[in-house]
Amino acid sequence: MSTIFSKIIDGEIPARVVYEDETTFAFLDANPLAPGHTLVIPKAEYERIEDLPEDVARDLFATVSRLTDAVQTAVDADGATVGFNNGEAAGQEVDHVHCHIVPRFADDDGGSLHTAFGDFADLSDDELDEIAADVERNA
Ligand code: 5GP
Repeated sequence: MSTIFSKIIDGEIPARVVYEDETTFAFLDANPLAPGHTLVIPKAEYERIEDLPEDVARDLFATVSRLTDAVQTAVDADGATVGFNNGEAAGQEVDHVHCHIVPRFADDDGGSLHTAFGDFADLSDDELDEIAADVERNA
């Protein structure tokens, strides 16, 4: 399998590449939500965040941190929304882990990640306790 993002790394599909090192790669999104919208990916193909080996996850986050700074500076942004659509249910369309860095501006009216959900989940204390215990057990 060769994802569309692997084809970008290989130069088969053109892209505005902004960063590359041994294990990670970054380029401008073809459909930017804001000027400077950048995608950061591991060079190796992993579909979802939980598939990443620890060393690759570490490298990826280091590049995300570095590029968040670089992108914000480049477009003079006031902040950035940084995140992954992880899995089809979350809106992931390309099956190659990628982190979106979307520059944000004080007056852009984009809202926070919370606005994607509309409302808070209605959960009792017992349900929250059970969820916390399950997550802890699986971590
Ligand atoms: P997802 O919905 O999977 O989190 O986001 C995939 C992102 O990849 C989208 O924002 C889309 O615009 C971007 N994208 C898809 N194909 C290409 C491409 O060929 N080149 C570039 N630069 N971005 C792409």
